Amino acid sequence: MIPKSHPRYESLMKRERIIEGFKKGIVAHAGLIAHGRGETFDYLIGERSENFALRAEEAAVARLFLAENPVISVNGNVTALAAPDVIQFARALNTKIEVNLFYRTEERIRKIVNEFEKLGASILGAEPDARIPNLEHARALCTREGIYSADVVLVPLEDGDRTKALKDMGKFVITIDLNPLSRTAQTADITIVDELTRAIKNMIKFADGMNEERARRVLEEYDNRDILAQSLNHIKNRLEMLAYHFSNSSGLKT
Ligand code: ATP
Repeated sequence: MIPKSHPRYESLMKRERIIEGFKKGIVAHAGLIAHGRGETFDYLIGERSENFALRAEEAAVARLFLAENPVISVNGNVTALAAPDVIQFARALNTKIEVNLFYRTEERIRKIVNEFEKLGASILGAEPDARIPNLEHARALCTREGIYSADVVLVPLEDGDRTKALKDMGKFVITIDLNPLSRTAQTADITIVDELTRAIKNMIKFADGMNEERARRVLEEYDNRDILAQSLNHIKNRLEMLAYHFSNSSGLKT
């Protein structure tokens, strides 16, 4: 049991959920490593949703709101960390959910589908009937009703190859990725540099006040290159500030 007073309480609880998901066969081995990479960037960012993240989250909600066939792609980590919030968000914006795995096994697919069903949501992906072009077989599988025909896809924690393949299909791609330097972050149309569970909660709030006029205005003003630059500048400035405190006082306060 982790005490709530622990300075890394939130982070440790997320780690517990990932470990639990791994034990249940939902999270892949590589998912553990991907989570660790995310934690590192969150440490550098300061473990809170900064302005560049909030702007991207609002733009993401705006684009999903205006989409014709929006789909949220989920994998093991997303399921372990945020399944109930993903369902709430999907309902708020009337989007489909599809399971899509980098390390696809039929068993993991079934477990993820079951996890969502236990929470009252049916999701696509167990019976793929289409392929994303230019990806090797298992990673290309998707459903015609979902990702294949989607105009807008939200792919949290995605890998660079698939993000590029989705872009090449002409889709509008939104990602949530704590690493602004990943290929996915650089390729997506909207890059949310924020931790998944914080991002989804913020997006549920943005969905509440969204309407067509607001969505169009938000998207007109949005510039993803600038948002990526802001996230890198934030990390740089924060490290400079911490280094300054370190050299001018007795301790480092993160
Ligand atoms: P790419 O192939 O896009 O260059 P990568 O090799 O880092 O990126 P993966 O390991 O497949 O790709 O993707 C995991 C990404 O998700 C990492 O960039 C990591 O920073 C990020 N990530 C992991 N956990 C979280 C989380 N909880 N919230 C947001 N991002 C996360």
